[in-house]
Amino acid sequence: MLCTGCHTGTLAPSFIEGLFKAHTCSDCGGDWVLIEDYAVWRERHPDYEFAKGIYFEEINITDTKEAMLCPVTRTIMRKFKISATDTHRLDYSSAVGGLWLDKGEWELLVSGGLAGSLNALITDAWQRRIRQTNAKDSFVDIYHDKFGEELYIKIKEMREWLNAHPQKTDLRAYLMAEDPYSA
Ligand SMILES: [Zn+2]
Repeated sequence: MLCTGCHTGTLAPSFIEGLFKAHTCSDCGGDWVLIEDYAVWRERHPDYEFAKGIYFEEINITDTKEAMLCPVTRTIMRKFKISATDTHRLDYSSAVGGLWLDKGEWELLVSGGLAGSLNALITDAWQRRIRQTNAKDSFVDIYHDKFGEELYIKIKEMREWLNAHPQKTDLRAYLMAEDPYSA
């Protein structure tokens, strides 16, 4: 994986703190961390002290030269600053749930007691993703309970057929009208 930070190095598998998987750039020393791996680290450190009053502030990228691209998807990552410090920046790819930390950034976050607060950023994005999946699942359950298996399958098929039909608008109007034959 080519480094999108320095554009010259490659991202090779590594272990941050010997605890969680990351990829580290051979040239600039930046770290690419997946939130799954970070979440595992957090679980193993339940007693980690959160620094108080930390929040992440999204920086609006006006100059695309400031933007960093996600090494996986090559799309622009969101840039955040950590409010309490004003010096730390991190880039976040919501597409793959990956974080970019410049060289030494992780150590700085740890020494500043901020490493645990990455959670605030990550879990928020993470849970939004989980919530979306859950919402979809629970709607399936609701319809399933309401219609029963057979009817649910049938109505779902009808819906898919209707939505794929070139005359769907007219067909829907016909279907929904109380009396489609009245003026
Ligand atoms: Zn690099």
